[in-house]
Order: sequence, then C-alpha cells, then structure tokens
Amino acid sequence: MKHINIPIFVPHAGCPHDCVFCNQKKITGKSSFDICSVKSDIETALATIDPSICETEIAFFGGSFTGIERKDMLSLLEIADKFVNEGKIRSVRCSTRPDYIDKDILDILKEHHVKTIEIGVQSTCDKVLSLSNRGHTAADIERACRLIIENGFSLVGQMMVGLPGSSLEKELSTARAICSYGASGARIYPTVVFKDTMLYELTLNNKYSPLTVNEAVKRCAQILDVFISSKVDILRVGLCENDALHNNDGIYSGAFHPSLGEMCFSEYFYLKTLKALSELELQSGMLVTVYVNSSSLSKAIGHKKMNVTRLTSLYPECKFGYRARPDLRQYELIVKAEKSL
Ligand code: SF4
Repeated sequence: MKHINIPIFVPHAGCPHDCVFCNQKKITGKSSFDICSVKSDIETALATIDPSICETEIAFFGGSFTGIERKDMLSLLEIADKFVNEGKIRSVRCSTRPDYIDKDILDILKEHHVKTIEIGVQSTCDKVLSLSNRGHTAADIERACRLIIENGFSLVGQMMVGLPGSSLEKELSTARAICSYGASGARIYPTVVFKDTMLYELTLNNKYSPLTVNEAVKRCAQILDVFISSKVDILRVGLCENDALHNNDGIYSGAFHPSLGEMCFSEYFYLKTLKALSELELQSGMLVTVYVNSSSLSKAIGHKKMNVTRLTSLYPECKFGYRARPDLRQYELIVKAEKSL
C-alpha cells in the first residue's frame, strides 16, 4: 500500500517562542486558519485518493500542534476522529516541539488515533539550540523522544542543517541521537533564511552565514548515510515549495533549491561509489558498472550524469556505466569492475 499524508498546516498563532529561523511571529495575525475548512479540505483530498492502493493519514503539521490552544487541538482531533471512524483514514500524525510533550498530551493523542509524532529536534547540541533561541535543551529532546516511544507511538525526528554554531560533526551527532531514541523516520531541513526573522537580521549584520546549496548537499549526504545505515526512513530532505510558500514573507538566502533532496541523494550515491571504488583494484581500461535498485538509478547517475562526469575525471582510464538490479534495496549499491573486451 502506498502511504499518503493529507497535510493540514496549523499555524501556531501566539507561539511564545522566537526561534531565529522562524517567521511565524511575523505572520501571526496575518495568516488565516479556519478550523471549519479543515473537514472540507480533507474531503477534497480524499476524493483524489484510491483507498484500495493507499493508506491515508491526516497530518497536522505547522507550528507546534500540541502547543496550540487546547480547545483548537481537540477540535482538530475530533474532525480527524470522524474520518478514522468511517474507515476513510487509517490514522493521524502531528508535529510538535519537544517541550510540548508530556504524558497527559500523549494520552490525549492516543485517544484520538494519533500513531506518529514528529518532533522538531533541530539539533542535539545545547549551544546550537541556545543560539537558535529554541527555548529548550537537548535533555528535553531526549526525554520527549523516549516518552513517545515508551507510549507506543512511532517517532519521526526533524533536524536542521547549518544552524548558527552548528557543524557537520554536530549534525552527524544529532542524526545518531535521533536513531538512538528509536525514530522510524527523519526529515532533514537545511537552514533557509526567511525575511523578517532573527536569522535575517544576523545575516544582514554578518553575524551568520547560511550554507550554500552545495555545502548543504555535501553535509546532508553524510547525514543520510547515518539514517540509512540505521534503517531510519528518510521522509524529506529540504523544504518543499509549499513549506516555503507558507512562510511566504520571502526567502532571503540559504540552502533552498526545489531539487535539493534529489541532489543530496545523488551526492550520497557518489560517496558510496567512491568508497566502493577505493576497495577495488582498478586497472587502466576497466569497465566499471554501478548497480542500484531501479528506483535509485537516476539519483545514482546524478543530474545531467554529473556523477558519471565526476567519476570519469577522477578515473579517466576507466569507463563507467550504471545498471538497475531489482534484488538490491533502495539505497544499496554494488560496484563491479571488469576488463573490457
Ligand atoms: S519554530 Fe515553532 S516554536 Fe519556534 S517560533 Fe516558530 S512556531 Fe514557535
């Protein structure tokens, strides 16, 4: 069965926090969110989904679902209940902050068919959390994640790349921590500087330099390796156009590209290929074939055959080709070299 989320974006009006990368406060009051339209939005989405081949979830995304007014949260959950009880929706998921998770909240979510909770981890480094003005610590993240797992929910960790004070090492450590808490999925968001945020001010005053797209791609490829090695599903890399549009005060700078996810996976396969090649004894004139699952073929080859070009310039005496092998898993890769005839 194909998994489909029906996303309902719930802005966190009145959020007391002021994360440096978020322009939620600026759009509070300007954005309209009408709970009454949620039911019809779900019905409209359901009309486009074939229930015989799809498992569908309602996904309350946006600010911090469990931090909004309790009566609004309950109203939204009750709308979702109706669809679950009618058999049209399998379950519900939501995203929230670590400090908005406790046993009472988890009991409410469980009662209302929530199966998966996505936590905005962002970083497990206290310094990065503090510089990002998150208002919680790494200990809060661990406590929330463990409580979610202990109470029988699936956990998804959302992390950011390129936050103030961060580094590749801190981000790899964040990814490892998310795996160790028992997450079954992860989302990776390279930092984007939106106008009217504290990060925008810091950038204008040369106190923060966002990662370029290329820098983010290189970091994310290594972070992907951590999650893939731990069999944690990668649900998303990079903001989707809609996420960006929801914060449509405008992107000023940072790692935003519509194909960012594809580029990161492509870099991941390139690094895997280099590693495999380092274990082979290549000789001049050899034909090197990279085997991957057909679903990963275009990522392994890269946009405009970029990976073939890079490999050929590193090993000009060899010829490179790519083949699909259905017996390989999604991110598995095998490299074979043979003397060409
Ligand atoms: S990221 Fe979430 S918690 Fe932080 S300011 Fe924005 S809405 Fe509030």
